[in-house]
Amino acid sequence: MKAVILSIGTELVSGQTVDTNSAYLSRELAGLGVETIAHATVGDEQPAIAAAIREAAARAPLVLVTGGLGPTEDDLTRQAMAEVLGVALRLDARCLSQIEEFFRRREREMNPANRVQAMLPAGAEPLDNPLGTAPGITATVGQSRVYVMPGVPREMELMFAGQVAPRIGRSAGVVTHHILHTFGQGESDIASKIADLMQRGRNPLVGTTVAAGLVSVRVLTRAKDRSAAEKLARETIALLRDRLGELVVGEDDETMSPAVGMLLLSRGQTLATAESCTGGMIGEMLTAVAGSSRYYLGGVVAYANQAKTALLGVAESLLAAHGAVSEPVAAAMAEGCRKRFASDWAVSVTGIAGPAGGTDEKPVGLVYIGLSGPDGTQVRRHILPGTRDIVRLRASLTALNHLRLKLRR
Ligand code: AMP
Ligand code: MG
Repeated sequence: MKAVILSIGTELVSGQTVDTNSAYLSRELAGLGVETIAHATVGDEQPAIAAAIREAAARAPLVLVTGGLGPTEDDLTRQAMAEVLGVALRLDARCLSQIEEFFRRREREMNPANRVQAMLPAGAEPLDNPLGTAPGITATVGQSRVYVMPGVPREMELMFAGQVAPRIGRSAGVVTHHILHTFGQGESDIASKIADLMQRGRNPLVGTTVAAGLVSVRVLTRAKDRSAAEKLARETIALLRDRLGELVVGEDDETMSPAVGMLLLSRGQTLATAESCTGGMIGEMLTAVAGSSRYYLGGVVAYANQAKTALLGVAESLLAAHGAVSEPVAAAMAEGCRKRFASDWAVSVTGIAGPAGGTDEKPVGLVYIGLSGPDGTQVRRHILPGTRDIVRLRASLTALNHLRLKLRR
């Protein structure tokens, strides 16, 4: 089965609100074995909404619509549904009493404007909204079943789960999604290593995306049931892991800091961080993982030279001779950090995030990453491309990746 998802709202087309509903619904539909063939977004204009519903219903047997069910003048989805169906809006007595009950329970006066939310196109069926005032609507348009839900994500999700998904039921088969996160090479390098597995029409279908500094390989699998899908997916994931080797950080939720955490946990070892240009970003990434206190001891943000000396014991003479962004200072930061925290490992970062501050000798993006551990200290020099934000993100991930590779080997 195929579906089209429509999101309605001027705030969406104008870019003030990001459409998260369509992404949510596509993922949920995939779990029900329904393939989403298109997302479309239209503003709060009745003719445009009506045209979009007609077009979607002509393309797919299932159409999900979110937004535009509010009580105000600019919420026009129910009027557009009535237009498409060629019927009038009628007051639904049961819906009205539910809306009245909603206000009574909250000891609030119902605004007369909310009455419109109890209006349904004649012949359409209401969908209960346990969280808000606007009931959803479902009706048949041509060959297609159309479900209209509120725009508020929480209300939409609950209505989808409680009212819509059970009506869609399970069509033949399931679709599953897996993700393999990689770090260390660009998207096109990764894609060229797995080009044959990325052919269109293959099942599982393999594609790449870049998000939060990682190149992620997506595996979309269709099969008759979950266990068949899982088996097919595992075969492709094994091939991908084989091709990509230690570039693979982890699967699904296992991005860089959870992967490093798992490796530290499995060895019973601890980590501390000494950050300059990343300003605590590595500490933030590590502590975003629940349970990270089992291996992450803490960190020092040593931004100024005097902080590097006072808090990490970096010799003033070293700073004077080589500058803060240098191999000896990165090494001294990591060693001083490891000593002060009495950790098994310490990573350090010192670099020039830009946009200003670069020279010919030390360009913007120059970053030294130190790693100090039981077998000594190494420093690597990188020139990371990008804006200040990107340099800082890449520097943080690169530092964690050095430790990840060290722990793996
Ligand atoms: P509406 O049902 O059109 O009154 O939408 C209510 C609110 O839900 C809007 O003001 C948005 O903040 C939010 N919203 C509507 N549609 C979406 C969407 N597709 N994705 C995320 N949020 C949305
Ligand atoms: Mg709206």
